[in-house]
Amino acid sequence: MIGRDLIAMGRRKVFREDMRCPHCGSNWCIKNGRANGKQTYLCRHCNYRFTPEAKRHVHPRWLKEKAIGMYLEGMSISSISRALGISLVTVYSWIKKSPMGFKGLQA
Ligand SMILES: [Zn+2]
Repeated sequence: MIGRDLIAMGRRKVFREDMRCPHCGSNWCIKNGRANGKQTYLCRHCNYRFTPEAKRHVHPRWLKEKAIGMYLEGMSISSISRALGISLVTVYSWIKKSPMGFKGLQA
């Protein structure tokens, strides 16, 4: 099962797959003390500080890659959104941020 694989990955990896920088999407995040009683994190990639409470629902990387793959195969963003149950905005932002997908969007 995919869920079990993700848990196994999480145990091995230092960086949590679900602790993702809301600014750049990197999961290279470290604990950065507390603010107002909440644990804050610092993104080592772009130095953005955030609290996990502020983040939106985070999708696993495989889902993102699947969405981009579907797009490259010629599926429309709205079809991918429906097929994977992800919001249109999320799918669009993934494709836009992906180097491969961005090329596709511009073409
Ligand atoms: Zn970041």
